[in-house]
Amino acid sequence: MPYKRLWLYNNKRALIPPAGPEQQQVFDEGNAIGALAREYYGYGVLVDMDPAQLPQAIKRTAALVAAGAGVILEGAFVFNKVLVRCDILKHNKDGSWDLMEAKGSTEVKDEHVQDVAVQRYVLEGAGLTIRNTLLMHIDNTFVKDGPIDAKKFFTCEDITQEVGALLPGVGPDLERLQEALASPAAPEVGIGKHCSHPADCEFRAHCWKGVPEHSIYDIPRLSWEKKNTLKAMGILLFKNVPDNFDLSDGQKQALKVEKSGEVLINKKKIAKFLRRIKYPLYHIDFETIRPAIPLYDGSRPYQQLPFQVSLHVQAAAGAAPRHLEYLGEGSTDPRPGLISFLLANIGPAGTLLAYNASFEIQKIEDLVRDFPESAAGLAALPGRFEDLMKPFLERAYVHPACHGRVSLKKILPALVPGMSYEGLAIANGGAAQLAYCNILSGRLSPAAAEKLRGDLKVYCGQDTLAMVKILERLGQLSV
Ligand code: SF4
Repeated sequence: MPYKRLWLYNNKRALIPPAGPEQQQVFDEGNAIGALAREYYGYGVLVDMDPAQLPQAIKRTAALVAAGAGVILEGAFVFNKVLVRCDILKHNKDGSWDLMEAKGSTEVKDEHVQDVAVQRYVLEGAGLTIRNTLLMHIDNTFVKDGPIDAKKFFTCEDITQEVGALLPGVGPDLERLQEALASPAAPEVGIGKHCSHPADCEFRAHCWKGVPEHSIYDIPRLSWEKKNTLKAMGILLFKNVPDNFDLSDGQKQALKVEKSGEVLINKKKIAKFLRRIKYPLYHIDFETIRPAIPLYDGSRPYQQLPFQVSLHVQAAAGAAPRHLEYLGEGSTDPRPGLISFLLANIGPAGTLLAYNASFEIQKIEDLVRDFPESAAGLAALPGRFEDLMKPFLERAYVHPACHGRVSLKKILPALVPGMSYEGLAIANGGAAQLAYCNILSGRLSPAAAEKLRGDLKVYCGQDTLAMVKILERLGQLSV
């Protein structure tokens, strides 16, 4: 944890905004992964005192160590005023211990090794002999087949060597951290990449409050090196970036429009894109969930599972669209029903149009892979896709209100005034995921679940209707 973040965490915790429902869902999923990790050995003693009972947790852990417990889960240790809680400690026959840290990722990351190095430093300081240090993470080749077995779901990587290499530096690092913590004021640390890597910092709202809207931090695909250079030049607003600053062609065009306030339209590029569209035209959009712990047999950790699809079908250019939709009913795997819907409603010819089409294409390819018999008829669909985002990515249309962004949510109100996602109960993909997960939880009343289903239909339908309107507008602009 960087010094300033740690200082704020110790001294100004009230600055952390309350967790929103989407963040809470992430916490809940993390807790579920932790609970599954604790099943890895099938036995062990859980030190389950909450954070308010730390002295008791430390005492209980020490008693378990002294009694020679076989496996200790969530043990609490303190050394040199540094407290750690260890996911799993396994006692070896020679009296030493193996330290295992469980993570919800599908690989070992640098920050995991640093985390485990601190744990090992504290454990050894507290008198334990550590033989192996292991990082337990989700095996991304796992495919659910019946009840989930923690031994198959997780894979353990031995990181003893990597942790050993960091160990000599841990003590001095912790001393520097403690010095910083003792300071009456927060360390002077500017904003930067560290605010969102490896994860979003909970103090962003506090530290970023001086950053204006439409700043250099919003320039798409601008490297942190260049953002820092601009900041050092005293430039924070996108429109104040000098014309001769090293930007990509796309960024330069966005800057030109940002400064002039004028819309840039390339009719030739738009017309070229429109010539690729073949009718009947299927405007298509999926909504997905991405559970870390697979819900359905045949699915994998973090696999994006489509639960909803909206189709607006146009028989000919300019024809009134027909709207069709599918939404999983919420208690079983939504994919078989979704496959039937696609097979029944997408004919053998015509373009499938999606916004950021690689997403929809991947979902269809996943369905064909996971349901080889029932979804075989979908195998030709990926080759029929066109991407409505393409003209915007290729800067055929650049609007100052988009400030360099090309997402559907930015493009729609700029290109089709009066149409936006404002005021919708569900207004983005994250909220749609959360809504469906809430329906899946079974904790909602029938009325509340029905309300969410209605909100989901409005949202997903808006996505494909937006595409109809954008295409119509591009047609007008191309002549
Ligand atoms: S928002 Fe950035 S600067 Fe502020 S504490 Fe977090 S990481 Fe540090």
